[in-house]
Amino acid sequence: MRNDRNAGQEDPVGLLEKPIEKCLSIPPKRLELLKRLGVYRAYDMVSLFPKDYEDWTSKVPIAELVDGADASFCAIVRQKPSLFRKGRFSVLQTILEDESGVVKAVWFNQPYYLNKLEKGVTYLFRGRTKRDGKVFEVINPMFRLEDDNDVPGIRPIYPMTKGLTQNHVRTIMESILPRVLPELPEPIPDSVRKAERLCSAPYAYEKIHLPDSAAAIEEARKRLIFEELFLIIGGLKSIKMEKAASGSAATIRPDAAAKGRLQDFIRSFPFHLTDDQERVIREVAGDVALPRPMNRLIQGDVGSGKTAVAAATMCLCAACGHQSIFMAPTSVLAAQHYNNLKERFSGVGIRTDLMLGSTKAAEKRAIRSRLLSGETKILIGTHAVLSEKNEYHSLALLITDEQHRFGVRQRGALSAEAGRDLHTLVMSATPIPRTLAMILYGDLDISIIKSVPAGRMPIETYRATSDEDERIFEIMKRQIDAGRQVYYVCPQIEPGEDSEDEISSVVEQYERFRESVFREYRIGLLHGGMTSDDKDEVMRGFADGNVDLLVSTTVIEVGVDNPNASLMVIENAERFGLATLHQLRGRIGRGPHRSVCILKSDSEEKLALKRLKTVCSTTDGFVLAEKDLELRGPGDFFGTRQHGLPTLRIANLYRDAGLLARISQTVDELFKREGGLTHTESARLYDAFRRRFGLEMDRPPL
Ligand code: ADP
Ligand code: MG
Repeated sequence: MRNDRNAGQEDPVGLLEKPIEKCLSIPPKRLELLKRLGVYRAYDMVSLFPKDYEDWTSKVPIAELVDGADASFCAIVRQKPSLFRKGRFSVLQTILEDESGVVKAVWFNQPYYLNKLEKGVTYLFRGRTKRDGKVFEVINPMFRLEDDNDVPGIRPIYPMTKGLTQNHVRTIMESILPRVLPELPEPIPDSVRKAERLCSAPYAYEKIHLPDSAAAIEEARKRLIFEELFLIIGGLKSIKMEKAASGSAATIRPDAAAKGRLQDFIRSFPFHLTDDQERVIREVAGDVALPRPMNRLIQGDVGSGKTAVAAATMCLCAACGHQSIFMAPTSVLAAQHYNNLKERFSGVGIRTDLMLGSTKAAEKRAIRSRLLSGETKILIGTHAVLSEKNEYHSLALLITDEQHRFGVRQRGALSAEAGRDLHTLVMSATPIPRTLAMILYGDLDISIIKSVPAGRMPIETYRATSDEDERIFEIMKRQIDAGRQVYYVCPQIEPGEDSEDEISSVVEQYERFRESVFREYRIGLLHGGMTSDDKDEVMRGFADGNVDLLVSTTVIEVGVDNPNASLMVIENAERFGLATLHQLRGRIGRGPHRSVCILKSDSEEKLALKRLKTVCSTTDGFVLAEKDLELRGPGDFFGTRQHGLPTLRIANLYRDAGLLARISQTVDELFKREGGLTHTESARLYDAFRRRFGLEMDRPPL
């Protein structure tokens, strides 16, 4: 077993797992701050990689200082520094000079430097240059005597949290690092390290924290990036293999009669399935025919018709005598699925029930008895369906809609809660780049629905500012007068407390529309603060065509379907992520009507504009997802929180996409060569994965 670590001997990973406060004395308050940075054990500490470096070794002449960039330079203090004070505020200024030029140096609120800078003496400075008109200034530069040999030439700059300082972290690091280095195991097989020309673990961890040259940092980074991705991909793949090996799920193999019922059911849809839908249904049917539990993700852009695939799968399951759960993230969506599917299912003799948090106790009891007797074959609902009180006659399948709302962590909980041996199918409308999918869903098989049903009009997307309100209102009226319906989306429910920011709120807009512009129209209000009954009522009103204009927050983002809606206006569009905007506009263009989405934003921020432009330029969710990753740039990876993705400390999914693909292949080869997870190198890889990501992934040890 891989958990039996060299019984009897000194545990070689003991130090790595040791709580940091047991390794050296740290004031309790500082310890708390470290935890905020994710540091609990000695291993976490050394895995807290610098986000940047202060490089005192590569000096530039003053003439080559660049606006906005950090640099080091040697210069003489030309004037006695002058100090200006007002209350606690102070400005210290002087002029620095070298052979190439002069630059002004300014220190805010650091009056004590007055006595440390002497006129006529040469220092080594380091700071960020800022251009103010024609004048170049260096703001708050650090400095030291030119020949001060006590300080290393390159110093790490760590991720910070308020209350902690670089020096705190550096001191702890310097004391713990030398003890950890000899204990670091090597999870990357020698053959791979050789082929990839990667340095050893101790070298990498030493140089990333205490580098002696820029080249050493590069070498260390190269290895650590590789290591990080290797561990994630390898770890997730081992989980997948482990799952594949266990095999006690129901085998769902339809006989002729069951096949006939499935055909009838599919024929009851008012459309023909697309090729993609058919293919995915076949893939799923192949999965559930085996005792190995299915673990599949269906990824398909908004409107690609995932619901029909889910429904067909449940029908197949029911026709073979088994029960399914269909879980949606909101009661609005769950109710919609139920209303759309229940008649169609009952048409082929399959009983469906709906269970929400708000379902009355007596009704819940009735549903439960039908589940236990097997009368109800399909249970649709929100989280409420996972209640421990639900007992089943023969539960075989769990489908989760809009998976991206749940995240990796919860995903583990879901299948654990509902029993280990279910076939699970998760559906996500967030198109994610392949690289990200490999990590996020590395433990799942993936089916992709690329095509959207034929006959859809593409959604046109435009940008607008609030100066154009009049025109926008006209467009809205014209749509409504033509019999269409309109969504009006705002980022928040009520006006902000600190109403400095002009963020639009639904409550405010709703009142405004009702009292003036849209007095004559039927307006609905929808937001997450309402009770689910109220929300359901509004949504039903909108779906039935009794509401012309729905003012809503992003609660409509998820899956709601009304083919008559042809226009969506999104206020403060800059506040939303690209994926969210794309999801939102997916609520329109679901019918035969020409559909338009207007992204309103008064932001003049460059990146914000670029992001909005991107949304206007394509309706391909996959392209958008790639773009999103690119625009967010390194160090700000959205998926982390939103998707419950383990935190990448050094790799970057956009930049390292090519590497990721190569690593995936390398891992496959390793597992194939060793043929089982208990073999040396695979086991070492898995151990290292758990050490690095175990806390975040919250998965039970295999
Ligand atoms: P999503 O993948 O976003 O969940 P839905 O399953 O809600 O998409 O489907 C979007 C709309 O397209 C629904 O109105 C559905 O009835 C319709 N639809 C699904 N499949 C097809 C198809 N093959 N042809 C035409 N319309 C379809
Ligand atoms: Mg859907």
